[in-house]
Amino acid sequence: MKWEENVRKAVPYVAGEQPGRPNVIKLNTNECPYPPAPGVARLAAQMNCDNLRLYPNSKGEGLVEALAEYYHVKPEQVFVGVGSDDVLAMAFMTFFHSGKPILFPDVTYSFYDVWADLFRIPYRTCALDHEWHICPEDYRQPNGGVVFPNPNAPTGLMESLENVEAIIQANEDVVVIVDEAYVDFGGTSALPLLEKYDNLLIVQTFSKSRAMAGLRIGFCIGNEKLIGYLNDVKFSFNSYTMNLPAQLLGVEAVRDDAYFRETTGKIIATRERVKGELKKLGFSFPDSSANFIFASHAKIPAEQIFRALREADIYVRYWNKPRISNSLRITIGTDEEMDRLLEFLQKYVKTTKNGEM
Ligand code: PMP
Repeated sequence: MKWEENVRKAVPYVAGEQPGRPNVIKLNTNECPYPPAPGVARLAAQMNCDNLRLYPNSKGEGLVEALAEYYHVKPEQVFVGVGSDDVLAMAFMTFFHSGKPILFPDVTYSFYDVWADLFRIPYRTCALDHEWHICPEDYRQPNGGVVFPNPNAPTGLMESLENVEAIIQANEDVVVIVDEAYVDFGGTSALPLLEKYDNLLIVQTFSKSRAMAGLRIGFCIGNEKLIGYLNDVKFSFNSYTMNLPAQLLGVEAVRDDAYFRETTGKIIATRERVKGELKKLGFSFPDSSANFIFASHAKIPAEQIFRALREADIYVRYWNKPRISNSLRITIGTDEEMDRLLEFLQKYVKTTKNGEM
């Protein structure tokens, strides 16, 4: 068909499955296994739906203010969006406009190359070292910007603040985006570096540590000037990105710091216990500071374990991609969910020899 010549072709990001059936143990998309803060449900129950006839606040000001207070920054330094994917996409569009290649790790969040292609931003990947760490010296080449998650995904491995700073320092002429989607599970945030570097943008999300993936709330914090440019692009694209319920309920989540600490603490404790159990079963993995473990087995191929788990209604994430095709990304669920996973793996590993049943 002739019209197809005029179509923008894109190769989309493939998100983890949402099976939508009960009784599935869902450890494939790094969601939180606990509900959002109790205040979220309370407010949702009282929400006045008459207000839905009005457009929401276009800057999400209530939520921006709550976040500014929580993170001790000015509201002018905060930008909110429809999940951190929306925030990151806007940031790519706004800040990576030089025509020079942007840099990110070869093993990382697989949306980065998708956005780069969509926005026609050239990019170059820098190989993680053999222990899955980012090598800061790789980020000393000419570039149009830098983006990396810390902790990285899907490895879960955290980089020290010194290494993060070394990358920012070496790249003061471009914007450096640190994607802190998983930082609340034991990572070290780059927030203290904001005072020193006006080219630093820190992106975070409510989808994991604040248990609100379904509402789609993400945000970033940076220098006022950066946030101003980001708002100009956002308002050239869609004035009303965040819906009213997300803005109101998000504030409730930010206010309940005790609940936030309790749930992230539980997930960290479960993760540390599961690390020990997986090791006993012959798995190895980088030492995760996130709400998932990136594990491979000494004898059994990851794809085979992935399929067997799926048959048993235990969903984890697997990518048939270079360097990572023998690893499974296992989200940390509740203790009960992880016990069911471990029980299955115990039997499976015992009855499976060298990749054969
Ligand atoms: N960054 C990283 C590293 C992620 O793993 C994810 C989750 N897929 C996101 C950003 C986006 O999360 P969300 O859009 O739900 O905030």
